[in-house]
Amino acid sequence: MSISQRINEIQESIPQHVKLVAVSKTKPNKDIMEAYEGGYRIFGENKPQELVQKYTDLPKDIQWHFIGHLQTNKVKYIAPFVSLIHAVDSIKLLKEINKQAKKNNRTIDCLLQFHIAAEQTKFGLTLEEAQEIVNSDDFKLLENIQITGVMGMATFTPDKTQVKKEFTNLKSIFEELKLKNFPLSTCFKEISMGMSGDYKIAIETGSTMIRVGSTIFGARELFKK
Ligand SMILES: *Cc1c(COP(=O)(O)O)cnc(C)c1O
Repeated sequence: MSISQRINEIQESIPQHVKLVAVSKTKPNKDIMEAYEGGYRIFGENKPQELVQKYTDLPKDIQWHFIGHLQTNKVKYIAPFVSLIHAVDSIKLLKEINKQAKKNNRTIDCLLQFHIAAEQTKFGLTLEEAQEIVNSDDFKLLENIQITGVMGMATFTPDKTQVKKEFTNLKSIFEELKLKNFPLSTCFKEISMGMSGDYKIAIETGSTMIRVGSTIFGARELFKK
């Protein structure tokens, strides 16, 4: 099956309101162009340098999502063009994104990343930390960012019950923030959860955006993970 056939197959199997981000990290431009020629426009990358290179080389109507951990000193490279930053987990990073967005005369959409997995190594906030950020005076001054929702990664495990529990937790974090912190926002609506191995469970538990790499583009080489 070709790359665009695999994208079509996923799109046909998911509800219309769920957005598919094709995660093209480590994959060559020709793979992205194959998806592009099939009509696909939303791609996810997790390394600033790789993203900038692909942005430079590829058609300008691609919507690039940054899905990885972003260091503050790298924000400036992607700020001119990135369409959504998925994994924001500090006020320091938000302030830098705001500063660079302002320099580029634009507003950048961001998702707050939550730590929902049992694994220690994954980044992300607790609900309390997120509320502290969005209630802070610093946050209220940020005019060039827009928080459009939440993002999280479940534990890498075959235990579907556990994965479902973690996604359900993210869904309730989203509902709580929406009710208490973004009651009037029409933009706060995305729940980015679900990858190749768990997107079906994620959709069952309320995902609005799935990030799928290997099911579309094939396995990545491990050393480039
Ligand atoms: C790599 C990656 C994905 C895609 O993973 P697959 O298992 O290949 O679908 C999704 N989200 C994030 C944050 C990633 O780093």
